[in-house]
Amino acid sequence: MTEKTTPDGCPCCFLPTIWYRGGHEICGVCRWHDDGQDDPDADAVWGGPNYQYSLTAARANFRDHYHKYDLGTGPDHIKDPSPERLALVDYVKEILSGKMELDRAKLLELEKATIKISDADRAELEQFQRELKAQVARERKA
Ligand SMILES: [Zn+2]
Repeated sequence: MTEKTTPDGCPCCFLPTIWYRGGHEICGVCRWHDDGQDDPDADAVWGGPNYQYSLTAARANFRDHYHKYDLGTGPDHIKDPSPERLALVDYVKEILSGKMELDRAKLLELEKATIKISDADRAELEQFQRELKAQVARERKA
């Protein structure tokens, strides 16, 4: 089996963000959860990870405001986007308007930046790791 070097198009935003179609990846741009739904049943509401959204509704939302959720709804990182998310959306706008040619590596890089953990999460994680190390050290002595 050869390793894939380019991802497939997302069924919602059509950008190359999904590595294996139907493999339950979440598109980093539009946030569609690729549960296998596609054109033949685009109007159906499957529920599950895409909630009340049919693929058709999610596509319309993406065309309007660059994510699958209804405007003003969705998780906090969508409602209150980070600078990284805004940079990704700006790039996507340029691509879709035809002002810029799609550079997959750049898209991937911008997408990755949006999922980096927050400073608060990092601090919590480091604290947890310190406690775990201390606990392991105590158990070794015992
Ligand atoms: Zn997408």
